[in-house]
This record gives sequence, structure tokens and C-alpha cells, in this order.
Amino acid sequence: MTIRNDVVEAIGNTPLIKLKQASELTGCTILGKAEFMNPGQSVKDRAGKWMILEAEKRGELRPGGLVVEATAGNTGIGLAVVASARGYRTLIVIPETQSQEKKDFLKLCGAELIEVPALPYANPNNYQHVGRRLADELRKTEPNGVLFADQWNNLDNAKAHYESTGPEIWEQTGGKIDGFICSVGTGGTLAGVSRYLKEKHPGIVNACADPHGFAMYELFKNGQAKSTPGDSITEGIGLGRVTPVIETAKVDDAFLIPDEEAVKVIYELIQHEGLCLGGSTGINIVGAMRLATQLGPGKTIVTVLCDSGSRYQSKLFNADFMRAKNLPVPEWLEKRSNIKP
Ligand code: PMP
Repeated sequence: MTIRNDVVEAIGNTPLIKLKQASELTGCTILGKAEFMNPGQSVKDRAGKWMILEAEKRGELRPGGLVVEATAGNTGIGLAVVASARGYRTLIVIPETQSQEKKDFLKLCGAELIEVPALPYANPNNYQHVGRRLADELRKTEPNGVLFADQWNNLDNAKAHYESTGPEIWEQTGGKIDGFICSVGTGGTLAGVSRYLKEKHPGIVNACADPHGFAMYELFKNGQAKSTPGDSITEGIGLGRVTPVIETAKVDDAFLIPDEEAVKVIYELIQHEGLCLGGSTGINIVGAMRLATQLGPGKTIVTVLCDSGSRYQSKLFNADFMRAKNLPVPEWLEKRSNIKP
């Protein structure tokens, strides 16, 4: 397909890129699915596309309708990109702690933004509950329908990866794949890809890479969704409970990854491999290296390059921010970051 009729058709079919240093250090072939190359620059474009197109098929959205979602940012961007191309409006509820770059990009895409304090899920004013209440309220007055995308509960989110990311990885590797690993925000990526690959190749090892402070490591390692101690500067990942989406995942193992290691990998990649990626991708790649070490040399492991590092210039690539978080700051970053306009 050389000409795409619109941006929606340009979502997916991303390249699989060999990660040189990670492969050399482990003796395996570690490949990254370049999701930052989607039009909205993240893996969540696929979820946005599927959640909107499936809702259209069910007749839940009509031209001029409103898409509402609670999101750390990337799902909102994916939804806004697709909504814009298909004639819908977007209203996004986002925790105020998320990066300014994501918020600015959402506004550029035409989304209306409601920023709320970052509160735990158990709090009734957590962004996910605010989003649902707003959608319920707006449904009473919106003439053309309201879609609450509801990515944690909406199985179309995982379907996107079962029908696109998984098959693409299988084809791109020619079925020569021994392991797949990624982190969990909603679990859409892990659920959809792991289920597809397990059906194709029951011997594959699917694994979850979890940052500190969330419950997926304990869930997949010991069967109980219990949060690990600590926290993480990564955005868009970390889930503290079992949801309908994550329940469909086919996962064999889990790894708990500290931010220090994830950040070092991200810095190495921009310095030596020309890849500018976000923090969740660091968690994924360190996880892929752990899985590679466990499986032994010669294996092929695939992970996900979730989003672009340009989304985190003010955080991950900001020496002052990183120092305040007691995370490693390489000398080159001291010199290159904080470039004022
Ligand atoms: N990385 C980033 C940067 C994200 O925004 C997200 C989605 N919130 C993920 C990873 C995880 O994707 P999923 O929701 O499919 O688990």
C-alpha cells in the first residue's frame, strides 16, 4: 500500500529495528517495534484507531460526535488524531503530572483538555472516574453520541494489538521469535500481542516488564496483584489492579525493572543508535535484556519502542529534573539539555 487515504490508514505497519547494544550484550537478537513512528508518535495510535472504528461499526458514534477519555496522554493523542480525521471532537481528562509536551500536543490536535490532580485509583476524583462521570453527564446533551473510550475495560484496545501489532511482529520475524516482552499501562499491547503470538507459537515466552510501584510484577510472577514498593518517573505505564483487558493476556514471566537501568538504556540509545525514546521504552528494553539472559544466547526477543523521547524533553532529557529525582545525569546531558528558546 503506497498511498494511504488518510492518517488512520497510516497507523501501524511500523518497522522492527534491531537494538545493537542490547543484542551484543546478551548474545541474542533484540528487536524493537518502532511504535514512535505512528502518526501520533506512540503505540496508542492503534488503540485509538480500533476503539473509534469499532464504536462506529456498533453505531455508537455519529458524525460530529464526541470522544471522551481518561488518559496519561498517548491514548488521548491517538484518539484525537483519528477523531480529527473522521470528524469527531475529543475531550481528554489527564492527570496534571503528565508531561507538558503531551498536553501541548493534545491541544494542537484540537482536543479539549481537563487537567485534574493525580490521585490514586481508589479516590473517587481519580482521572479515570472523572472521565467516566463526565462522559455520562455529556451523553444527556450531546446530539451525535458520546464514546467513552474506557481503555482499561474496552477490549477493542487489546484487539488492536491482536489484529495488527501481533500479526506484524509474526510476519516481520518470519515466525523466528522466542520471546516477547513489554510493560503495562492498560495492558492492551501485552494482552493483544501475547495472545496472538501464543496462538501462533505455543512455545514462545511472553513476559511483562514492570516499573517499581505497581502490581503487574506480582500478578504475573506470583498470581496476586500486589504493588511493589517504590515509584517510577516513567509515564503511561504502571497498573495497580486486574482489569478486563489485562485478564486476556497470556504471560509466562515478569521482571521488575528499576528506573536507573531504564534511563541508562535510553541515554545510550540516543547517543549511539540515533533512537530518541521515552521512559517506558527503557523499561521494555531492560526487560528484553533480562529475558534474553534467561533464555540464553542465539534467541530472538521482541519488545516495543512505545513513544518518542521528544515527548519528555522537559523531564527525562532535562538534567535538573533528573537530578531532583536522584537519577543518573550523564555529562553530555548536562551540556545539551535545558536549551532555552
Ligand atoms: N508506554 C507509554 C509511553 C504509554 O503511554 C502507554 C499507554 N498508556 C504504554 C507504554 C502502555 O501501553 P498499554 O496501554 O497498551 O499497556
